[in-house]
Amino acid sequence: SQTLRLDRLLSNLGYGSRREVQQMAWGGLITLDGAAIEDADERIKVTPDLPQRMRVNGKPLDPPPGLTLMLHKPLGTTCSHKEAGPLVYDLLPQRWRRRDPAISTIGRLDKETSGLLLMTDDGTLLHRIISPRANVSKRYHVTLARPLRGDEAEIFASGTLMLEGEDKPLLPVGMEALSSTSAYVTLTEGRYHQVRRMFAAVGNHVEALHRDRVGNLALPEDLEPGQYRIMNEADIALVL
Ligand code: URA
Repeated sequence: SQTLRLDRLLSNLGYGSRREVQQMAWGGLITLDGAAIEDADERIKVTPDLPQRMRVNGKPLDPPPGLTLMLHKPLGTTCSHKEAGPLVYDLLPQRWRRRDPAISTIGRLDKETSGLLLMTDDGTLLHRIISPRANVSKRYHVTLARPLRGDEAEIFASGTLMLEGEDKPLLPVGMEALSSTSAYVTLTEGRYHQVRRMFAAVGNHVEALHRDRVGNLALPEDLEPGQYRIMNEADIALVL
């Protein structure tokens, strides 16, 4: 595993400038295995157990780089800095917004979509998951304004549905009706507003949209809207 100077490690985690970290170290505020590290030049081996071993101001160190999260995105939050409204990043601890490498969302959900959103600071993992080759499926629970006609599943599965303003048909999409006005749809693509536009194309209107699965990873029942959880290797393996 990587080694980093203490001042670089902590400043990359958002604890302050390297100079501020040096001062914290001189003040004895940073400990490893119970002993203060007073020299911020000291090289630290960055291992996953570091948060259990290092304390900053008496608190466990933030998770080192290589951090992947699942968030239960609440309605009304946005994944884009270009859009108005509270950002999904605002749901994370403040200091995490100053991390380098930065945490970003793995794909996006609309402001008015809730559910499972993955986030990571690992660019390689991000590209592995969003790459079309990876073929990661995303399942949505859809609530509709009008009753299903009955032919939607067949149209979505056909691989011929053309969305307005586009010149390539959608890849086949699975649909399972749950009631006359609700269904699960499972996509492997992620075109702009795809689910909403698919139902618009068959004369319906999406009233509510909630993502409950990415790959084989389900949104945990006990993860409330606005809450997040750090993913372990097993969770990540379920996605890919
Ligand atoms: N399809 C949509 O229309 N919106 C989302 O947020 C995700 C998929």
